[in-house]
Amino acid sequence: MRHIAIIGSGPAGYYTAEAAQKQWGDGVRIDVFDMLPVPYGLIRTGVAPDHQSIKGVARRYEATAMCENCRFVGNVMIGRDVSVAELQELYDAVVLATGAPHDRKLGLPGENLPNVYGSAAFVGWYNGHPLFANLDPDVSGHTAVVIGMGNVALDVARILCKTREEFAGSDIVSHALDVLEESKIRRIVILGRRGPHQIMMTPNELGELSHLSRGAPRVDPEDLPEEGEDTLLEPGLRKSVTHLRSFAAIPESHYADTPIEIEFDFFASPTALIGTDRVEGIEVERTTVEAGRAVGTGETYVIPASLVVACIGYQTSRIPGVPFDERAGRFPNDEGRILPGLYCVGWARRGPSGTIGTNRPDGFSVIERIVEDIDSGALGHGGKQGRAGFDLLAEARGLEVVTFRDWKKIEAEEERRAREDAPREKFVDVGAMIRAKD
Ligand code: NAP
Repeated sequence: MRHIAIIGSGPAGYYTAEAAQKQWGDGVRIDVFDMLPVPYGLIRTGVAPDHQSIKGVARRYEATAMCENCRFVGNVMIGRDVSVAELQELYDAVVLATGAPHDRKLGLPGENLPNVYGSAAFVGWYNGHPLFANLDPDVSGHTAVVIGMGNVALDVARILCKTREEFAGSDIVSHALDVLEESKIRRIVILGRRGPHQIMMTPNELGELSHLSRGAPRVDPEDLPEEGEDTLLEPGLRKSVTHLRSFAAIPESHYADTPIEIEFDFFASPTALIGTDRVEGIEVERTTVEAGRAVGTGETYVIPASLVVACIGYQTSRIPGVPFDERAGRFPNDEGRILPGLYCVGWARRGPSGTIGTNRPDGFSVIERIVEDIDSGALGHGGKQGRAGFDLLAEARGLEVVTFRDWKKIEAEEERRAREDAPREKFVDVGAMIRAKD
């Protein structure tokens, strides 16, 4: 019997579990750990609440989780409740699928001013992540600046624009919906340090900006390169740039009837956050793009801002005893191998990029590496205790482990308390989640 511990129950974790099931069938026992009492990581607390069809992938993970050979071990934080070294004693392989749940820092003066947030915190707030549910952002000012030109920046801009009616069918948590309903934000500036040909936004997500009842995107035609240059772009990016061109063609009269403008500010690199008691503005430097890189021109200007959300990427959490690549913000690894018997997968392996589906080949690939290491004898000769050993340890430590069956009770309770037009009302603190299962 092979014993595999997977740390993290998001896409990378469950695709790895699925790959292990395909590899060993009934010859494997898989424990999928999560620090929260609820599974699915990024799907639950990262994917936008109005993208329910994307969240539907959780049903696939549920099928994996319900197999006899797989167990969800919730409410256990590896590195705090149990060490990685202890897990390595118990399991043949330990796979870190911890994602990249922390914000990369801007590293700019004023970054810690009130009402400046990273996207992990801000997205976590409207998605009900227990760590960020109490963020309480102030949306009573006029202008929000969203830094970065990736899909997370689009998520944040869209969520700041939507009306209560437009959130119908979403699972945005009520505390965020109530705050956003009172929002006075009328201008959202999306700041990109490079140009329209260097955006990371994908076409479908950009296209959504055209369908907001009270928001309209604004692109300065002067910022767009000659149309002929678009032919050099790869097809996805070319489609995205076509959206930008259609935004640039929106007649001025349209904005008179639109309460919120979503303005694309290209060639603008943030240099400082300005304010005394809270953020009041952001200083940016004009750039030009040379050989694909942003180069400062020395010209600066200030955009007034009452709220700033930096959507510039994420990093992985450190885990005591596990090497960490500070610069890359993830675990150093060779094709997923960190140390003998210790692996990483998904964003914890390759950084925060790609779609949810990208994690599936990742999961299958790490299981292939584990098979190679078993075959070469690098992982010893089995005989590990696996879950039976973990259960003894958990009992000795007094850990309150949440099982998949418990999660199904929490889920049923979240569905029961949902607003009329919502699939669920998430619990946003760990205590409430645990009480819901009892
Ligand atoms: P991303 O796609 O890597 O975009 C990050 C943006 O931040 C880039 O425009 C980058 O500019 C900018 N940036 C980085 N450091 C900066 C700095 N110091 N100052 C100013 N700008 C800076 O990351 P993301 O938006 O966080 O998305 C992460 C992954 O999740 C992506 O693969 C994304 O597609 C995916 N995602 C998908 C969806 C969806 O499909 N619906 C939704 C959300 C997220 P440079 O390019 O100049 O570095």
